[in-house]
Amino acid sequence: MLKVTQVPQQVAVEETFYIEGIASTEHIGKNLVLTVDNRYQFPGSVVKPDGTWRFAFRFLQQGDRAMEVAGSGEQIGFKILVTPTNPKPPSSPRLSFTTIPAMMMAEERFTLAGEAKDYPDGSELVILVDGKYEIARPRTSFQKWSTLVFFHQPGQRVVELVGSEQDRARVTLNIQPPRFKVSVMTRSTWINSPTPARIAALQPRRLTLHHTFMRPTLAASATVAQESQRMRDLYADHVNGNGWDDVGYHYIIMPSGRIFEGRSELRRGAHDVINDGLGIAFDGDYTRNTITEAQYQSAVQLCALLCYRCSIDNPLTLVPTPTDTFGTRLLPRIIGHRDRVATSCPGSEGGRTIRMEEIRQAAARLLRG
Ligand SMILES: [Zn+2]
Repeated sequence: MLKVTQVPQQVAVEETFYIEGIASTEHIGKNLVLTVDNRYQFPGSVVKPDGTWRFAFRFLQQGDRAMEVAGSGEQIGFKILVTPTNPKPPSSPRLSFTTIPAMMMAEERFTLAGEAKDYPDGSELVILVDGKYEIARPRTSFQKWSTLVFFHQPGQRVVELVGSEQDRARVTLNIQPPRFKVSVMTRSTWINSPTPARIAALQPRRLTLHHTFMRPTLAASATVAQESQRMRDLYADHVNGNGWDDVGYHYIIMPSGRIFEGRSELRRGAHDVINDGLGIAFDGDYTRNTITEAQYQSAVQLCALLCYRCSIDNPLTLVPTPTDTFGTRLLPRIIGHRDRVATSCPGSEGGRTIRMEEIRQAAARLLRG
């Protein structure tokens, strides 16, 4: 697999820009070759151990340019428009979008970036979608801004960058349907406040499964209203009880199979001490009882989606993993709380009650397609 994650649609002559992407493990350490207009070849980008790669490039002539990145028998093509001078959007002299990915899918995170001319470092900008939903608050640095975003719904979305009432920039993004069909009850289903922006940003490296241990476990026939109340109880437990900034987990799977969004995926969670990944909890106590079939099915779909979004190609691969209690261990990228911390979570018997190994294997199969 070879994929472009970042490429500008338009650049100016003599402007240095980057083409970034990811590649699957067989490409690691190998050279990729960039071909321009089917003629000019530029070797040089080596796929890094984490599977990322990057070309720095600069055009000397304007025009519509055909690009291709190739390696190990795979190639990916795209176009870049090279303009005589760096164009500014007429509506906004100071703010602009410069980086928009070639392909954007719902339920998949990607980076938007641009310029913020004359803004002091650390200025806060707001990104609004469809004129009403706030999805990010990037801060400026060296007169640029950059932020991770993701969309739940596919379709044409109007994205607006707001610095002040007078200073705005706008683009329309075409968000493709998601690769995995996972329906998530968004955070607004159960609470009005967003995850506080003061919590550190997260680039998830793995998934950790939990059970909430809240008793009694809800019935599989519970209504959305009852489950929403349950989310508020869990929130109160974590925020008022533990003194945390937000509910600890990123996703909670109810016995009905419905998945609730907890803490924003873009923020570091509070669930396995190290917190370098996403926390997914089965709601209830699975010390003796097993999860429902609906919970199992939702967990497999959700884990596959999150692995895909976090560029985890194979969740079965063992990687050195820091833990709280056991030093560094070789673990797969979908783990249980108990793999990192001396706890019985999620449930007992080595994860059998939550079907740990089955979830891991089924998510890996889905990812392989
Ligand atoms: Zn746990």
